[in-house]
Amino acid sequence: MMKFRLKCREASRLLSQAEDRQLGLSERLALRLHLGLCDACTQFSRQLGFLRRALSAYPGPEKEKTDST
Ligand SMILES: [Zn+2]
Repeated sequence: MMKFRLKCREASRLLSQAEDRQLGLSERLALRLHLGLCDACTQFSRQLGFLRRALSAYPGPEKEKTDST
């Protein structure tokens, strides 16, 4: 099982990294889960436009199955 629980610091770091690189599927899942629980990070993600990007960038199969540890 992957751990999907992020701390706010980790979540915000991933949100920032999403500006520069494509997040892995597990990272996006973890972020979305966190954003569902955390208002502060949701606000932050909106400022970055992450949600819109994550949703629009989602269609299409991705070859990111490698991090299934
Ligand atoms: Zn948070």
